[in-house]
Amino acid sequence: MTKSRYNKISEARFRKLFDDTQTMSIQGYSADGAVVYWNAASEKIYGYSTSEALGRSIYDLIIPHNMHNEVEQAVAWMFEHQQGIPPARLNLKHKDGSMVPVYSSHTVVALPNDEPIMFCMDADTRSLEMAEAEVQRLSYYDPLTDLPNRRLMLERIASMMRSVKGEHSVAALLIIDIVNFHSINESLGYSSGDRVLVHCAKSLQQFASSADDLARLGKDEFVILLPCTAPSFDAAAAEAEQLATQIIAELETPLMLENNTHQLGACVGITLFQCPSSLPSDELVRQADIALQMAKSSNTKVISFFDREMESTVKERLQLSQALNHAVEHQEFALALQPQVDAQQQVIGFEALLRWQHPTLGAISPNDFIPIAEATGSIIDIGDWVLEKSCETLVQWEARSTCKHLKISVNVSPVQFRLGDFIKRVQSTLERTGANPSNLRFELTESLIADNIDFIVTQMQSLRRLGISISLDDFGTGYASLAYLTRLPLDELKIDRAFVDNLEQQSKGALLAETIISLGRSMNLSVIAEGVETNKQFERLQNMGCEYFQGYLFGKPQAEVEDYLPR
Ligand code: C2E
Ligand code: CA
Ligand code: CA
Repeated sequence: MTKSRYNKISEARFRKLFDDTQTMSIQGYSADGAVVYWNAASEKIYGYSTSEALGRSIYDLIIPHNMHNEVEQAVAWMFEHQQGIPPARLNLKHKDGSMVPVYSSHTVVALPNDEPIMFCMDADTRSLEMAEAEVQRLSYYDPLTDLPNRRLMLERIASMMRSVKGEHSVAALLIIDIVNFHSINESLGYSSGDRVLVHCAKSLQQFASSADDLARLGKDEFVILLPCTAPSFDAAAAEAEQLATQIIAELETPLMLENNTHQLGACVGITLFQCPSSLPSDELVRQADIALQMAKSSNTKVISFFDREMESTVKERLQLSQALNHAVEHQEFALALQPQVDAQQQVIGFEALLRWQHPTLGAISPNDFIPIAEATGSIIDIGDWVLEKSCETLVQWEARSTCKHLKISVNVSPVQFRLGDFIKRVQSTLERTGANPSNLRFELTESLIADNIDFIVTQMQSLRRLGISISLDDFGTGYASLAYLTRLPLDELKIDRAFVDNLEQQSKGALLAETIISLGRSMNLSVIAEGVETNKQFERLQNMGCEYFQGYLFGKPQAEVEDYLPR
């Protein structure tokens, strides 16, 4: 490249750089103080556009009256020595009369055959200060929710430890996890996910005793510090548990998103500690997190306190949850079908039960992996897979005249059911496979009913409009109150195995089984008993008025059920 071409390019490049810079005002002046160059950022800082400024004097534009002499001398010195003076902080004048604090550097450029030019480069120090504050904010606050982040919370805990005195010296740390968050993110997209997080952050604010005591830890995890307000561990535990219960109730309030109501849930892990504590802040957060993992994995508890034994259990779960993420694509699942019969032992349908063959750990019980899949959200994909396989099986049977009437009962997790787009997913599986919805039955568990009842009812009605019937699984074990039961659009009650196990004369199980059966019949629901293992149980249940039966007596769950199909 020739030297002149090189110069031309680099001049163009520098010129563009000067013109485009957003934060630095660059002005060029001739020796008499007239403007010969004025970039766009100068307009931002001083208010004059390039065309307004060109040709006018620096003293008219930006130098305040009381600085005229001083500046004139400095400018003369620079042109004489053809070099700049040291940079300085100055207060210069804006077009609107206000003062602009700038950090100003200067240089004189003198090219051969050209008049020398003095360049001033001014940065508005207010925007620098703002930028510094912004950097500070970003490193301590979460940009989405504006809550303190993990780092600030760790510092807050440490400073609380340092300042604590007096007898109230037990504190608690609560980590809150939004149970349905993964599913919402997955089915509605990240912007809906973000809205959910902002909503949760707002809801949680009322539970923190000061703004510093609530932080966003990570994705869908928040932490609340209950500062040293309790005199003993017992008192702190009671206080923390009550707070956690209120938080969960608040977060369970249904939420409108994309025209659907969504039901969120929450789990809370808690650790208690004496102040000052010998443990560092991040160890305390880790303990609360382990307690949280326990709560997430439990079917029954949504609040859990940290203790030492938890640690190894949590490690195993983590391993399983990672393996579960890929189990669908690695084709590690299979469906087992267990026959359901009538009083004549004629097969009327099957329950679909999921089986997982882990490549190294072998067969893992659904009782162990379903709760994990629910906690991580992978139940959504898994549930879709179960439904799809069940529908495919129905389609095969529908092609055979002797099997057309057979039903399949599919277990649906509350996590799936609470999704606003659950109905749409079901509908598209039905369309894709061509299965007859009237042969499909969904088993929902009683625990679902602890949730917002109106939403549950609407969701159930939509399923029934599609032609799918609904069974209430594990009936009698949980929350369902009779008042709720009568509001649900159900087709079937399923008596839990626990009652069937316990059917000797006059036992509590017998009494409950009898009550459930007559209740179901009075509500016009069909009643099925599960876990029937002996002829004695079968007879007793029949005498009580039970119509349908499932259990090892009639067949175990198995992959190949050809022998059970009617001919
Ligand atoms: P569940 O819905 O109550 O299913 C009945 C369980 O009882 C099944 O255990 C079944 O194998 C077992 N069982 C059936 N008859 C007898 C019997 O006569 N005696 C005894 N001792 N047990 C009997 P399984 O297959 O281990 O499933 C356990 C639980 O896992 C299920 O309980 C259900 O809650 C869940 N699950 C299974 N498959 C799915 C699925 O596809 N989706 C969801 N969300 N959950 C599933
Ligand atoms: Ca079931
Ligand atoms: Ca059951």
